[in-house]
Amino acid sequence: MSKRRRLIVGNWKMYGRLTSGLVLARDLAEKAQANKPLDFDMIICPPATLTWAVSETIMGSPVMLGAQDCHTATHGAYTGDLSAAQFADLGCRYVILGHSERRIAHGETDELVARKVEAAQLAGLTAIVCIGETAEQLAAGSTAEIIEKQLRASLPDKCRMAHLVVAYEPVWAIGSGQQPSPADIATVHKVIRKTLGEAGETMQIIYGGSVTPVNAGPILYEMEVDGALVGSASINSDGFWAIAEKCR
Ligand code: PEP
Repeated sequence: MSKRRRLIVGNWKMYGRLTSGLVLARDLAEKAQANKPLDFDMIICPPATLTWAVSETIMGSPVMLGAQDCHTATHGAYTGDLSAAQFADLGCRYVILGHSERRIAHGETDELVARKVEAAQLAGLTAIVCIGETAEQLAAGSTAEIIEKQLRASLPDKCRMAHLVVAYEPVWAIGSGQQPSPADIATVHKVIRKTLGEAGETMQIIYGGSVTPVNAGPILYEMEVDGALVGSASINSDGFWAIAEKCR
């Protein structure tokens, strides 16, 4: 087991209406409260429409709140966008940045992600930066090279390493039911750690991509893996909690 504190992050994506979202948040808060003190960190990232209501629901419990994205600016004429400072106001402590669904559907580049990381850290948030290779890059055997390049380019020059979590999320594994082997995940995490230099030793590096209660055990057993970023399986409280318990 790693000496770094383990971290389990739930990315609700665009799932959850007011009632279902609050039931989910309340269930998790109750489970976390009943298991205090938690020996791992639990973060939930609801859609922005639910941030405030979820914030109130989990207040006082060990569950922490995150956002799924933020703008590069603190404020301005950016219709429909939300800033890191606005999320911080609502009680968020984390923000997911550079998720492949945003890189693909919104054309987000490494450079834009780096600017968002800077904005998030300036607002006091910890950035969970997602990187990962595509199926083609995997087949070409260029995973390590892609990961190193993407990671370097997705971080700002003055990155605050204490406010950074890296999520290795192979694009081909997200929502597909497919995954690298735990050993392959560990190998990529070592590449990430080496790329980060000294800071890499203490950095939380987590894995994301089709994690379920059934397959989480062997992945989280790897010393190199400090936790998981969970998408679809995070919108069921029992399932998400079962994954989190594998962090122990
Ligand atoms: C994700 O959204 O980051 C993710 C890993 O999704 P899923 O667990 O559904 O593959």
